[in-house]
Amino acid sequence: MSNPLEQADLPLSQKVLHAFNRVQVAMRAESWEEFGQQGLNPTQGQILMVLSRRPSGLRLSTLAQELRISTPTASDSVRVLVEKGYLRKTKLKGDARVVLLQLTPVGQALVQRLDAVGESVAAAINALPDCEQHQLFRTMLRIVRELQANGKIPVTRMCVTCRYFRPNVHRDSERPHHCALVDAAFGDRTLRSDCPDHETADRHLAARNWEVFSGLIARE
Ligand code: SF4
Repeated sequence: MSNPLEQADLPLSQKVLHAFNRVQVAMRAESWEEFGQQGLNPTQGQILMVLSRRPSGLRLSTLAQELRISTPTASDSVRVLVEKGYLRKTKLKGDARVVLLQLTPVGQALVQRLDAVGESVAAAINALPDCEQHQLFRTMLRIVRELQANGKIPVTRMCVTCRYFRPNVHRDSERPHHCALVDAAFGDRTLRSDCPDHETADRHLAARNWEVFSGLIARE
C-alpha cells in the first residue's frame, strides 16, 4: 500500500533549505533590532561588521562584492557612516589613488555593542553535542565552498581556500592539518572561516587541498 506521507514528501534539500530560512529569520530579526537600536539600517550594520574583521581596510568595490550589493548602494551607506563618524577613508600606502574604508575608534566601539547579532543562533548551536557542532561546521564549510566554486558568493578567507593550508599531513587525529604560514599543526575545530592572514590558493592547489581535506584522495 502506498504511503501518503512519503508520496507528498519533499526532497531533503528542500527541507534543509526551509530550515536555513528559519535560521535566517531569527538572525534577520536580531540584526534589525540591534542595528535599529543604534540608528543603523541592515546594510549599514553589515558594512560595519565586515570592516571590523578587516582592520587594514577595504576598497568600496570589494566591500560591495563581499555583501553582494551594488557599488552605488554600498556608496550611499558608506557616505552616511562617514558622516556619522563611524568610518574614515584612507589612502593605500604606496598608491594614493586607492581609497580604503576603515572603522574609526567610534565605529569600533559601536561594533562592540552589536555583538548580540546572531547570539540566539550561536546559543542554539552551542546547545548541540560537541560532535554535532563539529559535523555541522564541516558541512557548512562544504556548502560555502561549493557556493564559492560556483561563483555565487565571493571567496572568503577560509583555511580550505588558503595557499598556506596543508590538510591531513599529520598522523595526529586531533591535529591533522598544518598552517605553513605559522608552521603549526591544527585540527578541524581550529579551521578558520575568516583569517586575516589568508592568501588565496591557485585553483589547482585549492581543488587538490579540498579533495585531501574531504578524504576523497590521500595526501602523497
Ligand atoms: S594563514 Fe590563516 S587561513 Fe591560511 S592556513 Fe593559516 S590559519 Fe588557515
